[in-house]
Amino acid sequence: ADNRRESLMIVSGFAAKFFQEAMWDTEEGRNIGLSYFKERAFTPEIMRKFELGYSPDQWEAFTGAALSAGYQEEFLVESGLSVKRDNGTLYDRYRGRVMFPIHSFTGRVIAFGGRTLKSDKNVPKYVNSPESEIYHKSNVLYGLFFAKKAIRDQDICYLVEGYADVLSVHQAGIENVVASSGTSLTVEQIRLIGRLTQNITILYDGDAAGIKASLRGLDLILEEGLNVKVVLFPDGHDPDSYVRSVGSSAFKQYIDQNKKDFIFYKTSILLKDAGNDPLRRAEVIREVVESIAKIPDQIKASIFIKECSYQMQIEERVLLSELNKMRMAKA
Ligand code: ATP
Ligand code: MN
Ligand code: MN
Ligand code: MN
Repeated sequence: ADNRRESLMIVSGFAAKFFQEAMWDTEEGRNIGLSYFKERAFTPEIMRKFELGYSPDQWEAFTGAALSAGYQEEFLVESGLSVKRDNGTLYDRYRGRVMFPIHSFTGRVIAFGGRTLKSDKNVPKYVNSPESEIYHKSNVLYGLFFAKKAIRDQDICYLVEGYADVLSVHQAGIENVVASSGTSLTVEQIRLIGRLTQNITILYDGDAAGIKASLRGLDLILEEGLNVKVVLFPDGHDPDSYVRSVGSSAFKQYIDQNKKDFIFYKTSILLKDAGNDPLRRAEVIREVVESIAKIPDQIKASIFIKECSYQMQIEERVLLSELNKMRMAKA
């Protein structure tokens, strides 16, 4: 089984090299792939570092090259790089897409995300590798290999939604950034971060989906005993688009000034909907206490209860009794 895993990683490494050469060293690649990344303002340095590439817009460019180089069909199919036709022949999964290799914790290529260049609504924006013996997407964070040192050194990890967000934020000089690409945040991913730091700041997209995902992520992170803050981006921006529109230093300033601890973030999001309706405000308080009830450390929880009491102007003992009720119900 270790041999199979090694074979899969070798063929994935070959593919990453193939897609890089297809981008830098061919006419089509430079005109389409490279110019796409340039338009998005990625520097050649960041493209090389993250081994970005391009898959030629043909049915068998990669598969043909891999078979000629002696790679076995079995591993091409298992890795998801090639797909088997009914007649048994293989074709390329990724065609005419810009390619984001996904690295393991130790820097081996284990999967890919491929972004379409078309704006056709019927074409999926991203195609990702299927699960395989080397790629369990719930256990992988995009960018972690390039971020881990900075996460340890700075004792905080920024969490974004997408590949482009990781690249742009990294390029802006914030290297401690990862994405839970292709899946909603999992407990395994939080534990991976937890080996490096106890502090996570969520930088999700400033749209309805991003806000919803941030509230869910926040509870999962609290349950794992880590500390979480959230930054909300203005109207429809994601970290990539925002850093591009305001520049690196204004971006960093925005994060510092808009970083909210989870109680403040959750209450302000929920209160916006509740307005002045007292019953709905009561429900908001209950939901915030529900998040606090997820924190395993009782001392931390009691500090957050104090903060909640202050922010919501509710007596602490009322919140504490609610917290205890929730804890009893869970036990
Ligand atoms: P871009 O800036 O390139 O348009 P994005 O990262 O902002 O992309 P979002 O729509 O915000 O794209 O999606 C966030 C992330 O979710 C993507 O980076 C990708 O990992 C994943 N994703 C998006 N669409 C799909 C899809 N159709 N299939 C699988 N994963 C997807
Ligand atoms: Mn989005
Ligand atoms: Mn986005
Ligand atoms: Mn984006």
